[in-house]
Amino acid sequence: MAYVITEPCSGVKDGGCVTVCPCDCIQPGTLEADGKIYDQFFIDPDHCIDCGLCETECPVNAVFADVDVPKPWQHLVALNADFFHRTRATDAQD
Ligand code: SF4
Repeated sequence: MAYVITEPCSGVKDGGCVTVCPCDCIQPGTLEADGKIYDQFFIDPDHCIDCGLCETECPVNAVFADVDVPKPWQHLVALNADFFHRTRATDAQD
């Protein structure tokens, strides 16, 4: 399991989640997918330890455990992971 940041973050990007995360696994960024631009924070599922601190800190209720993501935002589970996989692939090319 991992936590996932969903669409309410876009345009708000409060960043309180970054402050409380003990694993430094939340990053801001922009990702284009399905003809849409996601400008928000993302959680690295490979490093999240499921502590839930980010969920309670978020002022717009954008953070959910992956198993609890509301249906309209379930595609964000894969997109949070994709953000880090794409970033790592780009870093490997540099
Ligand atoms: Fe970081 Fe905990 Fe949120 Fe995972 S659940 S992203 S470890 S604050």
